[in-house]
Amino acid sequence: MGTRLAEKTVVVTGGASGIGAAIARGLAAEGANVMIADLDLAAGQRIADDIVAGGGAAAAVQADVTDRAAVRSAIESTVARFGRLDVYFNNAGMNSPMRFLDITERNFETVMKVNALGVLIGTQEAAKQYIAQGGTGKVINTASIAGRTGFPNFAPYSAAKAAVISLTQAAARALAPEGITVNAFASGVVATPLWTKLDAELAEMGAGDSGFDSMAGDILLGRPAVPEDIVPTAVFLAASDSDYITGQVIPIEGGMILV
Ligand code: NAD
Repeated sequence: MGTRLAEKTVVVTGGASGIGAAIARGLAAEGANVMIADLDLAAGQRIADDIVAGGGAAAAVQADVTDRAAVRSAIESTVARFGRLDVYFNNAGMNSPMRFLDITERNFETVMKVNALGVLIGTQEAAKQYIAQGGTGKVINTASIAGRTGFPNFAPYSAAKAAVISLTQAAARALAPEGITVNAFASGVVATPLWTKLDAELAEMGAGDSGFDSMAGDILLGRPAVPEDIVPTAVFLAASDSDYITGQVIPIEGGMILV
């Protein structure tokens, strides 16, 4: 066990699967108390139990990141359990592909709501908790290369992740006077259950050739990411090493779009 996050308490939304689960495990391995906040409580609890079995400190709560009362309640549970909040990962996200001309209002609203509104609500509620504790704290957002370069079958998702990038910058400006930093990382193509679902939906649309394998073919380092590739940057952004960094978006994409 490392100690870079000893005595830090962290919430990871979407921590029940994929990138969020790897982050939860990685932060706990550095000594953090980890609260997993996810729609899927059973899966979140399994990750938390596993962390505890390995000697770490973790718990899970059910929360929909688009529901402010649920987010507030998840933060209250975290403080009741671990005493305070130091780092909040806005990581929960989803995608639902559609060809550009077929995108419906409902698809756009759903994708924007989870990926962008969820980040706004999480940032606001975490910041209120930091201010109530006397200031300082970190917010870390999971953006995507999709937010830097729009993908044709993922237009609402790309727009939502672009919103995550500008929310990161706006929140960094708004919250700096409180001693709160706000940063993001922009992942590339990461092998997670999200892609299993996307590949099936793209195949159903007749766009199976634009899925995971095709995107992974454009990566300079020659392979897609695994969730564990995100962990060192997540630890860095959560730890005091990054105290003088705010409003930044760190690409973790193996050399794919180079912006
Ligand atoms: P995943 O599907 O494996 O995990 C997402 C988790 O978020 C799930 O546990 C799910 O239950 C949870 N979730 C979804 N909607 C929620 C909501 N409304 N409230 C609370 N929890 C919710 O996906 P992943 O690939 O690990 O994605 C994690 C994050 O990384 C997302 O923000 C995604 O957009 C982003 N991302 C993924 C990739 C990739 O290639 N996998 C690339 C760039 C960015």
